[in-house]
Amino acid sequence: MSVTDRLRDGLAPLETARLDWQRDDGDLETPHSLTFGDVYFSRQDGRAETEHVFIDGNDLPRRFREWREARPFVIGETGFGTGLNLLCAWACFRRHATPEARLHLVSTEKYPLTRDDLTRALAAWPELADAAARLAAQWPEPVAGVHRLWLDQKVTLDLHFGDSAECLAALDGRVDAWFLDGFAPSKNPQMWQPALFEAIACHSRPGATFATFTCAGVVKRGLKAVGFQWRKVPGFGRKREMLSGEIETPAEDSARHATPWFTPPAPAPRPAQHVAVIGAGLAGASVAHALARRGVTVTLLDREAPGAGASGNAQGALYIKLAVAPNAHSRLYLAGLLHSRRWLDVVDPEGALWQQSGVLQLANTPDEAERQARFLTHYALPGSVVEGIDAATLASRSGLPPQAFTAEHALDYPTAGWVRPQALCQRLAASSGVRFQHGEVETLTPARDGWRLALADGGTLDADQVVVATAQLSNRFAQTADLPLQPIRGQVSQVRLPEGVPAPTRVICAGGYVPPPADGVLTFGATFAPHDESDETREADHAANLSELARTLPGYVEALRAAGAELDPARMVGRAAVRAASPDKSPYAGPAPDATAWRHDYAALSKDAKRIAAIPGAHHAGLWISTAHGSRGLASAPLCAELIASRICDEPLPLPVALVDQLHPGRRLIRELIRLTRH
Ligand code: SAM
Repeated sequence: MSVTDRLRDGLAPLETARLDWQRDDGDLETPHSLTFGDVYFSRQDGRAETEHVFIDGNDLPRRFREWREARPFVIGETGFGTGLNLLCAWACFRRHATPEARLHLVSTEKYPLTRDDLTRALAAWPELADAAARLAAQWPEPVAGVHRLWLDQKVTLDLHFGDSAECLAALDGRVDAWFLDGFAPSKNPQMWQPALFEAIACHSRPGATFATFTCAGVVKRGLKAVGFQWRKVPGFGRKREMLSGEIETPAEDSARHATPWFTPPAPAPRPAQHVAVIGAGLAGASVAHALARRGVTVTLLDREAPGAGASGNAQGALYIKLAVAPNAHSRLYLAGLLHSRRWLDVVDPEGALWQQSGVLQLANTPDEAERQARFLTHYALPGSVVEGIDAATLASRSGLPPQAFTAEHALDYPTAGWVRPQALCQRLAASSGVRFQHGEVETLTPARDGWRLALADGGTLDADQVVVATAQLSNRFAQTADLPLQPIRGQVSQVRLPEGVPAPTRVICAGGYVPPPADGVLTFGATFAPHDESDETREADHAANLSELARTLPGYVEALRAAGAELDPARMVGRAAVRAASPDKSPYAGPAPDATAWRHDYAALSKDAKRIAAIPGAHHAGLWISTAHGSRGLASAPLCAELIASRICDEPLPLPVALVDQLHPGRRLIRELIRLTRH
């Protein structure tokens, strides 16, 4: 795969910023870009300049004071750099906004600073030390794509790593105020291109404002061409002038011309105040938590208890398996893994519910070793995300002696690990703003201003909006009946670790997986049995898990046996549950399509796949789905939860538009219609 292809796929390796540090008279340091030959800010008056140009240039103190919308105020920025501008915007928001208001920051960056450089640069502003520490703690790996950070209860930051024009063209969301930063057009002409201005115009709210330090002709012309009014206003310090302005009628977002069915439903006329989430596994519990964090009251329903189904294992591995060459599915899971890592830190800062042990993926055959080598070249991810290692390193990082392995090569995901999924579901279900209700929902009926849920015990519940997150049962409702879902039974086995036997210190996986022991018990598995909906544990499945473990770690199983571990399948214990998968193995997360309307509106596709009716997809208003997380829900469910909560609350989404579409619960309806063309 060429670098151009990788760029198009959003997986080009990112170069981190190349800096040197300039010292002023007082021995203080200012970062200077070696790539662009320019400073990020002036040490003397950088903060004052930001306040003048970007904060006052967009009239933010007044707008924050007057902000009364349920949705967050959205700021978009080109060139995150050190984050000074956005930290100042955050400080301004804290000073002026009402306690209910929320702020959403979207910023692009093609050359992210390393965490150390970021910390060093922001040390220039002691008054922003707390904010800088919060930012640095969640600072993402240099991987292209969107990284969502939670700066505080009310403030979210989406960092879009990649080129500004490309990232903003792929943004699913609209902005109220733009900070047009980035080095001066004379030093960085590649960024200030018509494509950037078009993307900005397409992703502006009506009346969106902008401010920029530059008055360059290319910027004035570019903004005017896409519909912005601009005026020159006094610049900061020695700069005589700068630009600010607004756009009254933003351009239409053309992203979905080729796929009108994925056009998101318009925000509800009345912001959601009460949402019912059905299913308290990881998918539902994480949606409930995400909505409650936004001030929405949530009733979380389950016919059993939080984490009773497939999310109910005592231990689960947070890991992913990516295709050799990047595709939409892999990009989704990579984004999901990185997201879950940051999310777990926020949900469980004390680390009681998960461990960043690292995950080793063994190459037990020459074919697999070759596949891993190709994978590493195709993705070119930083070693902090995944690294190819040899047998000696494998043994030293695994906690097990070399004779435990036959693999000569492995992939190491150092920041992945394992989670206590059931305890995590319980924690999420107990979030402030979430009320857990025991109950089985039988039908959903549209009601005035929302939905009425009929429960098996004869009771009802009314909610403004509903999220269905009941794994393989998600298509039991009339409105979701067309969702193709496959039940997959999975069983894990457990043995108490005998004294004196070494334990893996990382999750080790090949065909199956084995995490480090929890509470003295080693869990391994899991079986994979499509179309089997039984959740009874079976001796045959324990035997299968044992053989898989013996294939993965032959020497280790012998050591366990020799030390007297209970490895008789007839006497072993474990747990079985049913997971759900979609035919293409990506989860479903998004609005519930009205399948009858789609089949009617897009019927022409079944004759000619190019006959695309320009009709936006019809949806069951206020009904959402998060399901088909298979056995990788720890990597996918939290990101899908953010996606749904962001959509319900009318915020920018945490994924580029192509990946939002990849998750759409209606995608199989379109595939079905197009497939008819070929028959
Ligand atoms: N807003 C920043 C702050 O508050 O620290 C300062 C921004 S600095 C002057 C310009 C930033 O734009 C640099 O971090 C640079 O890497 C980034 N940049 C330059 N060209 C870019 C492009 N085409 N896409 C995205 N970011 C770009």
